[in-house]
Amino acid sequence: MVLPIELNDRQERIVEIVKDLGPITGEQIADKLDLTRATLRPDLAILTMSGYLDARPRVGYFYTGKTSAQLLTEKIRQIKVKEYLSLPVVVQESANVYDAICTMFLEDVGTLFVVNKESRLAGVLSRKDLLRASMGNQELTSIPVNIIMTRMPNITMCTKEDLLIEVAEKLIDKQIDAVPVIKDTSGEDAYEVIGRITKTNITKALVDFSSDAIL
Ligand code: ADP
Repeated sequence: MVLPIELNDRQERIVEIVKDLGPITGEQIADKLDLTRATLRPDLAILTMSGYLDARPRVGYFYTGKTSAQLLTEKIRQIKVKEYLSLPVVVQESANVYDAICTMFLEDVGTLFVVNKESRLAGVLSRKDLLRASMGNQELTSIPVNIIMTRMPNITMCTKEDLLIEVAEKLIDKQIDAVPVIKDTSGEDAYEVIGRITKTNITKALVDFSSDAIL
């Protein structure tokens, strides 16, 4: 992923030249700056990849008119769920609360997805769902997870083609930590779980983004 960057002096000058005179060829830009075309090549590559300039064969470079803030927003809005999803951790609907707690620790996740006998999404279990169930005096092995889980159709989901930013908005809006990524089985109401997106995945995207931006 290539992101908008802080331009150096030479890149700023190139942008100014293209803004005033574009469309203009690389050769002509090099002449204006008293440099060779080869010297300019890396700068022109950076400016086109990051979206400040556009290049058309036999026409030359022209200015896109986009600010770095606009370019950054565009890039963020292009990230898809499939680039950041993790594997889902699931338990069977017949599992008990004790088993679910063990799975949560062993798999080191904060949210479990519950599936039915047909391996389709039936519910979601969060840490607090399990804590709440543990607060009574009941034997945890005797409580099935399907009586404490948040169940279908009240589950917030996404597909791998969805935009990561839309999932981030859902996490905030619904005040949840994770969503299952389901296979897009349009028209069906039984969903196969193929991944998960959590606040951690979104934090990772943010970190990748800032390190890419330094170039
Ligand atoms: P915690 O309860 O540990 O703070 P969450 O904020 O993720 O974790 O969960 C809050 C509540 O929302 C829980 O009852 C949980 O079952 C439910 N929940 C979690 N994820 C989802 C989801 N994707 N769709 C619907 N409900 C969810």
